[in-house]
Amino acid sequence: MHKILVAAVALSAGLSTSAFAEMTVGVSWSNFQEERWKTDEAAIKGALEAAGAKYISADAQSSSAKQLSDIEALMAQGVNALIVLAQDTAAIGPAVQAAADEGIPVIAYDRLIEDSRAFYLTFDNVEVGRMQARAVLEAAPKGNYVMIKGSPTDPNADFLRGGQQEVLQAAIDAGDITIVGEAYTDGWLPANAQRNMEQILTANDNKVDAVVASNDGTAGGAVAALTAQGMVVPVSGQDGDHAALNRVAKGTQTVSVWKDARELGKAAGEIAVALAGGTEMKAVDGAMEWTSPAGTTMTAKFLAPMPITKDNLSAVVDAGWITKDTLCQGV
Ligand code: BGC
Repeated sequence: MHKILVAAVALSAGLSTSAFAEMTVGVSWSNFQEERWKTDEAAIKGALEAAGAKYISADAQSSSAKQLSDIEALMAQGVNALIVLAQDTAAIGPAVQAAADEGIPVIAYDRLIEDSRAFYLTFDNVEVGRMQARAVLEAAPKGNYVMIKGSPTDPNADFLRGGQQEVLQAAIDAGDITIVGEAYTDGWLPANAQRNMEQILTANDNKVDAVVASNDGTAGGAVAALTAQGMVVPVSGQDGDHAALNRVAKGTQTVSVWKDARELGKAAGEIAVALAGGTEMKAVDGAMEWTSPAGTTMTAKFLAPMPITKDNLSAVVDAGWITKDTLCQGV
């Protein structure tokens, strides 16, 4: 069955079947800290399997140095394409250079790599930030706001923060809300988010009315700090982590912006196979030209996020993202 599929794809691409049968795609993960990455991984594997390609991978365990040697090792195993979830955008450059030197296509997966030779595949992260701020602002139209940002080495942190600011600006200008604390979260670690939140609460005598947290992990840290003070205020997140969806159900988190990682992973697997087979980046279905804030022109594809609040929790159940039973555990 696979052989027939591979042959059909190969024929339509004008390539020999052996070129496809031997195709290997290497995936370099930054870490598996957040629940979502295992879902992304399963989807990439599934798409590669469907195309008759082999999946190999490495986990950098949050080390940007290890990620560089991981990618070298993947290349030494003869990968035909690389999918890279970058730990540190400033450190990943040499890996893309090495891949380019060998003509190996690279997909900047979920996180931007500032190199126009890479294909940038992600969700619309600025829109994720807008959705987070919108839901929190609706729940807390006035008061003191805390911004719990993502990792400073991840460009998504600032994309999110930019979208959040767009939505909050009018209320800030009107004097309705004031940002009383703001901090990056090193490594996106929930424990760091909790510590930052504790410090901000202390500095403000607990006079905090809302928290715009950039993902579900950091939201969990912020909620822990709030709970310790006996406080419940609107809090945002993203990823549709099961724990976060349960907080949404319980009312301790206002929104989790859901990004269907199954779709992103599937697209990455398919695009990797297409690029390795000679498809040009701009010929990828849904590809567009996009310029980064630093001025790098990329070929990119953006998937759409969706805010999940108490009102539409059924959407993630209906999509098979979480079972009703799992969702009710925390209620
Ligand atoms: C991703 C988020 C994730 C975070 C931490 C970001 O780049 O877009 O979905 O929660 O990294 O892994």
